[in-house]
Amino acid sequence: MIAQVIVDVTNSQVDKIFDYMLPDASIKVGQRVFVPFGNRIIQGFVIGITSNTLLEVEKLKSVISAVDDFCCITEEMIALMHFMVKKYHLRYIDCLRLFIPAEMRTEKVKPLSKFFCALHDDVDIEDIKLHTRKNAKNRLALLDFLNKGVDYSKSELCDRFSASAVNKLIDEGVLVVSSKQLNRSPDFDSKSVVAVKHTNMQKKAIDAITSDNKTYLLFGVTGSGKTEVYMSVIEKVISQNKTAIMLVPEISLTPQVLSNFKARCGDEVAILHSGLSAGERFDEWRRLAFGEAKIVVGARSAIFAPLSNVGVIIIDEEHESSYISESNPRYNSFVLAEFRSKFNNCPLVLASATPSIEHYNKAQDGECVLLELPERVNGREMPKIQIVDMLMELRNGNSGMFSNQLLTDLDKCIKNKKQAMLFINRRGFSSFMRCTKCGYVAKCSDCDVSLVYHKDEEKLKCHYCGKRFRALTKCPECGNEKIRQGAIGTEKVCEELSKIFPGVKVVRMDNDTTRTKNAHAKLLKEFSQNSPAILVGTQMIAKGHDFKDVTLVGIIDADQSLYHSDYRSTEKTFQLITQMSGRAGRDKDEGKVVLQTYAPKHYAYRFIASYNYKGFFDKEINIRKVTKFPPFTKIIRLLFSGTEDEIVRENVKLCYNSIKQLAEDTNGFIYLDVMKSPIGKIKNKFRYQILARLKNEISDEIIQKMYEICDGYKDKNVSVFVELDPQSLS
Ligand code: ADP
Ligand code: ZN
Repeated sequence: MIAQVIVDVTNSQVDKIFDYMLPDASIKVGQRVFVPFGNRIIQGFVIGITSNTLLEVEKLKSVISAVDDFCCITEEMIALMHFMVKKYHLRYIDCLRLFIPAEMRTEKVKPLSKFFCALHDDVDIEDIKLHTRKNAKNRLALLDFLNKGVDYSKSELCDRFSASAVNKLIDEGVLVVSSKQLNRSPDFDSKSVVAVKHTNMQKKAIDAITSDNKTYLLFGVTGSGKTEVYMSVIEKVISQNKTAIMLVPEISLTPQVLSNFKARCGDEVAILHSGLSAGERFDEWRRLAFGEAKIVVGARSAIFAPLSNVGVIIIDEEHESSYISESNPRYNSFVLAEFRSKFNNCPLVLASATPSIEHYNKAQDGECVLLELPERVNGREMPKIQIVDMLMELRNGNSGMFSNQLLTDLDKCIKNKKQAMLFINRRGFSSFMRCTKCGYVAKCSDCDVSLVYHKDEEKLKCHYCGKRFRALTKCPECGNEKIRQGAIGTEKVCEELSKIFPGVKVVRMDNDTTRTKNAHAKLLKEFSQNSPAILVGTQMIAKGHDFKDVTLVGIIDADQSLYHSDYRSTEKTFQLITQMSGRAGRDKDEGKVVLQTYAPKHYAYRFIASYNYKGFFDKEINIRKVTKFPPFTKIIRLLFSGTEDEIVRENVKLCYNSIKQLAEDTNGFIYLDVMKSPIGKIKNKFRYQILARLKNEISDEIIQKMYEICDGYKDKNVSVFVELDPQSLS
C-alpha cells in the first residue's frame, strides 16, 4: 500500500503530499510515522492510504516505522485540514500542528507514569524475616511495614526505607512492580451542585437545541441562566453516548466557570487553555483522544479537540474577538465549528448577552435559529446606567479621572461595605486623538473610522484605506490647542483611589498583574474576600464573574473603544459596556452603573443605557449597509513580509497588478488598494499589504483566485499571510 504523508517541516516548498511505500499494514491513517526525507529521517503524518500513485512505485521510499502506537489525527480532522488549507490558504503542516499538543512534537513531555509495588501472593513474610540478618535494619523495617494486597508507591517506599532495600526485594521477586499512567489534571475548588428548576424560557431553549441539528443563536441577558442551558444540553448529549465541545473566551476561563463544570460533569470534563502547564495540557488532550473525557471546555483552540461523535458544539460569549486567530495560522473558530457540526451532524450553539452584529444578522436572515432569554433568572432588574458627561465635568472645573457622580457613588458603596468594579477600557490604547475641550475625534473622510496617530511620522492614518492626514495641532471644531491622546491606565486609577479612599482594599487586574499562573484566581479571591473593596481592571474583569456584593460599576472612559480604528468599534463598545454593567446588582442589592464619556449623545450609549440591543442592531446594521462593510461585504488582507524591502515591494506590486486585473474582470470589488502596513516593519521584516473589500455574492470565488495569484508570485524570501475579515489592521 501507499501512504500519503505530510512531513513535519516548516517550509512551504515541501508542504505537499508525499507518497511512501507502506510495508507495515498496522499503520493507519492519522498516525505519525518516521520517513526518510532527503538524507534525513523525519516525522510525518499519514493523511491517507491508497493503492495507487502517479509516481513509479520502484522509486518510492518506504515508511520506516510509527512514532506513536495510536492515531493522533482522526479522519474528521484530516477533512478539516483540507477544508482549512483551501479556505484560509494555509500550509497542511500548520493545520496538523494545531490538532495535537505542541508538547507531543517536541517530546519534552512524556506521559507521567508512577511505579507501584505489591507483595507477591506466594511469599511468606515471616519466613523471609527469619532469613534476614539482624543488622539489616532497613530491610526488616520494610518487611514489617508491608501488607499483602496493598499497592505502595515505589518512590515513597524508597524514601521511607531505602532504595537498595526496596530494589533487593524486587530482585528477589518478593515485591512485584507495576506501572500506572497518571493524569496531571488542573486543580479546582470543588463545589456542590444545586439542582434548579428550569424556567420556561430555559426549557424552550433546551428543547429546541436537543431536538434539531441546526445552528442556534442563544441571546440571553447576563444572569438569564445561559450556563444552565449549556449544562443541561451537554448532560443530555453525554447520556446519548456522544461528546461535547464548549468554547469560552480565554479571559472568562475563570476558576468559577471551570469548577461549575467539574461539579456537574466530573471527570468527563477536560480543560484546554493556555494557562495549563505543558504536562497538564498533554494529559488533558490524551484523556479526550482516548475517550476518558467526553467534554472539552476550552479557549479557541479547543475546537481542535480530538473528540469523535460530537453531539453539540457551544460557543459562549460568541461576540468575543478571541475566537478569531490573529496570528499564523489564522482561522475563525465559528467557521471551523460549523464544519465540525456539519461533519458530526450535531447542533451548534452561539450564545451571548450582546450578540455580534454578524450573527444576529444571520438570525434575522433565517440562517440560524434565534432563541431568547430576555430576563434574569432571579427576576432582578438590570442595573440602572447613568451617563456622565465628562466635558461638563471639565467645564465645571473637575479635570480628574473620576466624575463627582462616580465619587459620590463610590463613597456610598464603601460606606455600605459593598464592592465596586472600575473598568478601564484599554482597547485602542492611546491610538486616537481627542480635543480636551469639545471632545472632537479625528476620523477618516472616506471610511468613518477613527484615525490612528503614528508618532514616528507625526501622521494620522486610516487603517482601512491607507489615507494619511497631518497630525492635529489644534481642534478643527473649536480651535482649542490642547489635543490629547486618550488613555488612562489601571495603575494610575489605583493610585488615585488609594489617595481618595485610604485603607480600602483596591485590587488591580490587567495584563501586567496576571502574567503568572493562577494570578487571575488569586486576585479574584483577594477581591471577593474583602468588603468594601474595589476591583480595577481592563476587559478581563468584564466577563463571567458573579460577585454578589458588587453594587457599583464605574466605566472610567467608555470612549476608548469607540474610537478604535475599526468599523466594529461601536459594536465592541456596546458589547463591552453592556457586559461590564451586568456585573452590578446580581444579588439582593440593587446595582448601578456610572458611565463616563466625552460623547454622551452617541447612539451607542443611548441604546446601552436603555438595554435596547435590537434598537442598536437596527441602527448599526443600517450603517454597515450604507458604508458597505461586513456583513454586507467581505474584507480580505494579503500581508506580505520579508527581510529585503525591495523584494517584498516588488512581489506585492506584481501581485497587486494581477488582482487589479481580476477586479476589472469580475466587477466583484468594492475597494482594492496596496500599501505599506500600518506597522511597516516588525522584527526586521518589511510589511506590505493588499487590502480589498469584496461583494458577498462572489467573494468565495474571488478569494480562491486571489490565492492562486499569490502563489504565482511567491518568492521564497517573502511570506504571504491571508486574513479574511481581519480583526485589526496593524
Ligand atoms: P448567564 O450565563 O446567562 O449570565 P448564569 O447561567 O450564570 O447566567 O445564571 C445566573 C445565576 O442564576 C447562576 O447563579 C445560576 O446558578 C442561577 N440559575 C440559573 N438557572 C436557574 C434556575 N432555573 N433557577 C434558579 N437559579 C438559576
Ligand atoms: Zn479611510
